[in-house]
Amino acid sequence: MATKEDDLADEFSKLSTKTQNEIKLSNGIDPTWLTAHSIKDGYSFWCQLTLKQLVDRQLSQTYFQELIFIIEKEQQIYDFHMRLDPKGQNGLTVDFLYKTAANKLGPDQGDVCISCDMNNPLSQSSLIKKNPTTCIWLDAQLRNKLIITPRRHIERLSQMSEEEMTQFWQDAQAILNEEGCNWETMILNHGKYRTHSHLHMKINIGQTQWIRCIGNKYKEKIQQMQNLFACEERDTNIKKYFGNRKFNKWSGIKKQ
Ligand SMILES: [Zn+2]
Repeated sequence: MATKEDDLADEFSKLSTKTQNEIKLSNGIDPTWLTAHSIKDGYSFWCQLTLKQLVDRQLSQTYFQELIFIIEKEQQIYDFHMRLDPKGQNGLTVDFLYKTAANKLGPDQGDVCISCDMNNPLSQSSLIKKNPTTCIWLDAQLRNKLIITPRRHIERLSQMSEEEMTQFWQDAQAILNEEGCNWETMILNHGKYRTHSHLHMKINIGQTQWIRCIGNKYKEKIQQMQNLFACEERDTNIKKYFGNRKFNKWSGIKKQ
């Protein structure tokens, strides 16, 4: 039988939950956006705002830092494939897939970090914009992706300062606005899911929009990059920039 103390304890627990929720809401983040739903190979979070709305309302830094806190500090997951999917008017989902980490090998890169060392033809021809804390690139493997990297050589989102995190999402949204294209998914691999050690986010763009917005505008840069992998030095260049990595069928520099 419930005692008065139990009732009071219940009331207190409700009050305490309510207060916590109010605290959460006061920073603009709805607690349901931080609820982990189990999916195959990991967790999924659903945020009712779009990425653009998160950025415009200055919530992106807090939201993504809270998600990363849940994954790394609470769940102790450090090897993961993080994927953002737009859901139209219904906001976005952020998935963290980690259960296949045992099959992953981690980074295998060449002699240079192509995101830090600008003193090489591949980095020079793929760079399209330098912001104070981020760089925007065409994909070094010539796929339909824009790449955003922090200027600092860091390997995880959790290593970003609040300022860097704010700027990172703002710059991602800004380049999409500038190029006039939508995104299909955004991917951030961590730990063993990486192929390149420097943190980078791949912004996948649909084929039609890619040709219309990016392909034409950066025709010369794309040609320069193609030339690097279509010349006598092809194998040397692949080793230099990508190490012994295997390329999948989507790669623009797969075996010719
Ligand atoms: Zn680097």
